[in-house]
Amino acid sequence: MHAFTWFLILYSGSALVGVTALWFFYDRKDRRSFEARRRQKVFHCVRCGGLYSVTKANVSEGEPCPDCDYKNYELSY
Ligand SMILES: [Zn+2]
Repeated sequence: MHAFTWFLILYSGSALVGVTALWFFYDRKDRRSFEARRRQKVFHCVRCGGLYSVTKANVSEGEPCPDCDYKNYELSY
């Protein structure tokens, strides 16, 4: 086989590997940030109107606002 053909095969092969590696990297990164966002509980303070979030698992007892300490309950989606 021609030397140039081999070069072409190796070149496109390494490009394919590179793209696949990038895809894996960004796919994992996306999933991780999505997981982090999913665990976050968002609160809206009814007293001062501020928005804040925590990464606790159980917030059924409410979370105090970081600005005014008023206890708010999780926003329902
Ligand atoms: Zn507040």
